[in-house]
Amino acid sequence: MTTPVIDFHVHAARPEDYHPWVVDWMRSLLGEASLEKFRYLMTPPGLLSVMDDSGVAYAVILADMHPKTVGTVTNESVAEFCRGQERLIPFGCVNPHLVSSPRDELKRCLDELGMRGLKLAPTYAHFYPNDPSLYPMYALAEERKVPVMFHTGSSVFKGSKIKFGEPALLDDVAVDFPNLTILLVHSGRGFWYDQAAFLARLHPNVYMEIAGLPPQKLLTYFPEFERLADKTIFGSDWPGLPSLRKNIEDIRALPISDAAKAKILYGNAARLLGLSV
Ligand SMILES: [Zn+2]
Repeated sequence: MTTPVIDFHVHAARPEDYHPWVVDWMRSLLGEASLEKFRYLMTPPGLLSVMDDSGVAYAVILADMHPKTVGTVTNESVAEFCRGQERLIPFGCVNPHLVSSPRDELKRCLDELGMRGLKLAPTYAHFYPNDPSLYPMYALAEERKVPVMFHTGSSVFKGSKIKFGEPALLDDVAVDFPNLTILLVHSGRGFWYDQAAFLARLHPNVYMEIAGLPPQKLLTYFPEFERLADKTIFGSDWPGLPSLRKNIEDIRALPISDAAKAKILYGNAARLLGLSV
């Protein structure tokens, strides 16, 4: 039987929620998809058809409060997108420059919108993730046992500042909140793969997330990839890649054990999301 898959990193919104150049980039990756086709893929039925075609059981859907770089996909719209869809798991986004209290905004995402985790993109919103002003928000996430995803490393989008995406900044957070689950989104993409792998091995609460990394390069970036299988989580960054199905096939083709692939593609994420393993 083929291992089921959880995709921990999916974007879905109306095209007008993103900046035009972001939509153009995504459409070009999908083989110059027409705007109508792209719009359909960004609806629950469209996304679920892609998930079915790719063997994805569950997907984490991410909000984006990053008007400077990507666009504005509100927490409300992501909650609405996932409503009544058991396979779509909404994660909120907090941009500390846009809200008076990051903690209160997370609380609202969890209590009022039914979201089940948080994604932060310090490189897009321009803040240091270990800033003490964010600690009340992390304390709440730790208390509620919801995972927090941090974008680390590079991005193709203009306006992104890589200095805010250094994985080592999360060492502070991992130490100060030992029961907070931390995902290093993109695993320090660019020149910080070693930092990401080191932190994931050092801290029980830190995981690498591999969205946007070419599967064929994973064993080059992480020579001990098999040993990191307990601390690695699959995400695709759909629709920021040509084919979700091919992305997963390429991971299944890696020369690592089936047990390791099952953890990376499903088991680790299922545990963090409270789904059946
Ligand atoms: Zn993404």
